[in-house]
Amino acid sequence: MLLPALLLGVLPHAVFPAVDPVPGVAEHLARVSAERIRADIDILSSFHTRHSLSDPDPEGVGIGAARQWILHRFQEAGGRLKPSFDGHSVPPGRRIPRETELVNVLAVLPGTMPQAAPRHVYVIAHYDSRASDPMDARSAAPGANDDGSGTVLVLELARVLAEVSLDCTVVFMATAGEEQGLLGARAHARAAHAEGRSIVGVLSNDIVGDPTGPGGREDRRHIRLFSEGIESNLVQVGTRGDDPRELEGRLRALGQVRAIGNEHDAPSRGLARYVAEVAAREQTAVQPRLVFRPDRFLRGGDHSAFNEFGFAAVRFTEVYENYDRQHQDIRVRNDRPYGDLPEYVDAEYLADVARLNLAALIHLANAPSPPQTRMLAGTLAYDTTLRWLPSAEPDVVGYEVVYRATTSPFWEHVVDVGQVTEATLELSKDDWFFGVRAYDRDGFRSMVSIPLPASD
Ligand SMILES: [Zn+2]
Repeated sequence: MLLPALLLGVLPHAVFPAVDPVPGVAEHLARVSAERIRADIDILSSFHTRHSLSDPDPEGVGIGAARQWILHRFQEAGGRLKPSFDGHSVPPGRRIPRETELVNVLAVLPGTMPQAAPRHVYVIAHYDSRASDPMDARSAAPGANDDGSGTVLVLELARVLAEVSLDCTVVFMATAGEEQGLLGARAHARAAHAEGRSIVGVLSNDIVGDPTGPGGREDRRHIRLFSEGIESNLVQVGTRGDDPRELEGRLRALGQVRAIGNEHDAPSRGLARYVAEVAAREQTAVQPRLVFRPDRFLRGGDHSAFNEFGFAAVRFTEVYENYDRQHQDIRVRNDRPYGDLPEYVDAEYLADVARLNLAALIHLANAPSPPQTRMLAGTLAYDTTLRWLPSAEPDVVGYEVVYRATTSPFWEHVVDVGQVTEATLELSKDDWFFGVRAYDRDGFRSMVSIPLPASD
């Protein structure tokens, strides 16, 4: 029974990072195997090249054989996984000399709660690789870390979750054409957008297997997590065919971001924050270091292709990259092998990164949908009233209002308001950012819904 409203005195306690882990998640994390990851990295690096323009023959020595192997790995994982190829014919472009069939490999784990199954959570990585010249489809390009590391992480998560029942649908995807311009991911995101697919979030893992950097730097306990602030689908013109009315709508949305100052509440930023909260709850060995920026300088990644179509998507990348081991022809320099070789991938670290992803996936896929929330801002008032539509899932047992100072990167306070659809806090909406999230009977929290101002 929903109560209409709750008037609250403010009884805050810190929400981040002190929330208990959800029972059962740690057992899944323990099933991630560094040995399997090691074995997969060694095989995936042995295809000579996985360049998107290399030999498409499944019996050959290029990308065709690699994708056949990835599909086979998904099939071996079995369980309730539905593996398939996701092919897209891509016209000639900057790094595509002729029309080329790019093939993503994916495995879908259907959600088991009818109200949640239409929502999709993605974990992705690109399986294509490159040498020094981005157009060189012949030279050796083992791509062990970029992005063999992300690809075997996706395979390992598919194996661990193949028999697990999760509320939402999970998509494990290895993309092609990333090095040619995010082409496989973009084709998939475009199709998902066209069909109106609901995507809760996309976790992209790209260069996640080497905790060491040049000059002896090392960080085994962290991974960077990049997220956009201003949504690229609001500012990128031309990707989706722009009719004037749609452009006007984007400008209005941007204007509202500016007016209420919520540059740090874009869906992708909220997803990054969610991952950080899960990592703190589940005390994963590798913790995300949030970078409030879409990506690194001079680099790109598949998460951005999803961002272009309005989907929340974030990028994991190790703390210290080593440019000698990326996008390089394999050679010997100073008596050391030079290039993106399997010996530079650390399976133990990569397994810990996989556990962080797994924790985030399990939480995202079991969490309720965020309530649709608005903030009453029709008249001047000293307090803050939030109203929301209840989340649809039957296991939702309550809601929390979270808030933070306008200068804070993380939610700082939480108020458990119970099974209601309205709450008033004795706090000025001028001075805080607010959000609402649902929780279910297992303790899974939804992503935070950001209220927009409304008159009633
Ligand atoms: Zn990459």
